Amino acid sequence: MNNAVQLWDGHLSVITRPVPHVQNPLQVVIKITYSAVCGTDLKILEGKFSCEKSVILGHEFVGIVKEAGSEVKHVSVGDRVVVNPNTSCGMCDNCTKGQPHFCKFEGVKATIGIRRNGGWAQYCRLPAKNAIPLPHQLSFELGLLLEPMSCVVHGWNRLQPINPDAEILVCGAGSMGLLFMSMLHFRGFREVVVTELLKGRQKIAQRLDFGFQIVHPEILISEARNAKQDGDEDWGFDIVIDCTGDPKTLELGVQWLRQGGKFLLFGISPAGSEAKLDPHEVYAKELKIIASRINPFTFNSSMQILQDMGERYLSFEKLGMRTFQLQEFTAALEVQRSGEISKAVFEN
Ligand SMILES: [Zn+2]
Ligand SMILES: [Zn+2]
Repeated sequence: MNNAVQLWDGHLSVITRPVPHVQNPLQVVIKITYSAVCGTDLKILEGKFSCEKSVILGHEFVGIVKEAGSEVKHVSVGDRVVVNPNTSCGMCDNCTKGQPHFCKFEGVKATIGIRRNGGWAQYCRLPAKNAIPLPHQLSFELGLLLEPMSCVVHGWNRLQPINPDAEILVCGAGSMGLLFMSMLHFRGFREVVVTELLKGRQKIAQRLDFGFQIVHPEILISEARNAKQDGDEDWGFDIVIDCTGDPKTLELGVQWLRQGGKFLLFGISPAGSEAKLDPHEVYAKELKIIASRINPFTFNSSMQILQDMGERYLSFEKLGMRTFQLQEFTAALEVQRSGEISKAVFEN
């Protein structure tokens, strides 16, 4: 049988269904090894991000191909795979312009685990093109981090160029903030400050032991105020990476950026939220506000960086992740929300 955690009209419950089979020649069925809880899943459950009324959540997962349709060529039964929850049609205007994440027919409209059944289950049937073979160098643990990392890499690409001596602020030390921190350290950046509200997450960020300063945002708010009073124009950051999705971060980030600075809007604010900016400040400092949305062209290309960073940076333990059984979903979500762990992972 196939146990799954199903979302129905805002509420989660464990359901048991027969193991799915392929229904067309271009599908696969995956036996899931690990499936993670993303910050977006928490936002969905709080009603701050839209999804199907009835769906099995989970868009970060890895597993083994159990069944493959007759026309599937790139993977076979028994292969280890990682799921890219986003795909594109390749034919619409946006796809042909090189922007598959805005695909008119697929893209975010068809995301697995948000628009179609996903990985909080033991088995998942999905279009074969969403199942990407996992190279033997990548463990399932590392593979599970490919989807979030591919989003980090897209944000990273959007931020380029970054000066090697840039002073960088990462707002939010949830799972994405931790991945950005790891990437920054791996790439040699040392002048990094991280803001985080929750004590538990601050601890996880400290334990990474990168020598970065981890502070409550109030500390920076008062530092910025003092710098302004003292006329200290050097105070500030060259880059602010927002992993909170709190509109307030955009307001503060713009104030905290130096001349020529860049703000990366990576966290997702609820639709309809508002932030107050002084356009004169944006002009006077010639700021760039850059957004980053999902992972166009970075899913496969992020495998190399995962491999290079390896367990030294990216183990479940280092990143403050913890495994749970599907049945324990209530506890899993609660602990993740509290900040005691950065990411809950369902293990089969
Ligand atoms: Zn996600
Ligand atoms: Zn398209």
